[in-house]
Amino acid sequence: MTRLLAVANQKGGVAKTTTVASLGAALADLDSSVLVVDLDPQGCLTFSLGHDPDQLQSSVHDVLLGDEEIADVLLDTSDNVTLLPATIDLAGAEALLLMRPGREYALKRALAEVAEDFDVILIDCPPSLGVLTLNGLTAADEVIVPLQCETLAHRGVGQLMRTVTEVQQITNPGLTMLGAVATLYDARTTHSRDVLSDVSDRYGLPVLDPPIPRTVRFAEASASGASVMRGRKNKGATAYRELAENLWKYWDGGGDVPTADLA
Ligand code: ADP
Ligand code: MG
Repeated sequence: MTRLLAVANQKGGVAKTTTVASLGAALADLDSSVLVVDLDPQGCLTFSLGHDPDQLQSSVHDVLLGDEEIADVLLDTSDNVTLLPATIDLAGAEALLLMRPGREYALKRALAEVAEDFDVILIDCPPSLGVLTLNGLTAADEVIVPLQCETLAHRGVGQLMRTVTEVQQITNPGLTMLGAVATLYDARTTHSRDVLSDVSDRYGLPVLDPPIPRTVRFAEASASGASVMRGRKNKGATAYRELAENLWKYWDGGGDVPTADLA
């Protein structure tokens, strides 16, 4: 059975793309076949997996509009995951999709054609709650929310939770909110932890274990087009591996996903 996990937060810079790339590589290392979907017109995931969006002939944009078969657009990456890439064309997809009936289902329909080739499909949503994110949430079985542990982290979480509830009511009754992933976490101060437990209490949102620590290796990796999961060992990669194992066990055996102890 294929697991479809959307990574969403309309705030930019909270590590959605980093989470998709790192979890994707870690899950592939656990011997699962992984597809990652870039739904952001900026194409950061595409770029970070070694493909230059400006050089691509076709992308998820053409797939969503029905102009290309999804299987013809998929790319291999050095991280052993398959990529459905994005290009800047996708910025126009919002407007084009808005005029079509069933616009929230375009990604779901396309993924159905290749889903059986993959154990896990990870969807990197753009920093908005527009049609593209609605497509991501409509296609997914589950959603996780990366939260940067800073003072105003909770801003916008209420709106995101409302959007998830609306998707559950209208386009995807099976969607499960798995919880938040704490990113750019600083274990040395109590601040990160206080912010997290506040958001968690306020929205009844479990925080998955483990938190992902801030490490300079991530900035280096996204600039070089190589995954942080390769190369030298670092605490960020270790945390994503642990999170991938926790998710994999949960998908395999049921039970609960382990949550972080914020006490
Ligand atoms: P989003 O997709 O939510 O906009 P990104 O994944 O692009 O966020 O991350 C935003 C920035 O934060 C990037 O420069 C990335 O390299 C950096 N970053 C992500 N995770 C970490 C981390 N654990 N430690 C340090 N920097 C990080
Ligand atoms: Mg991103």
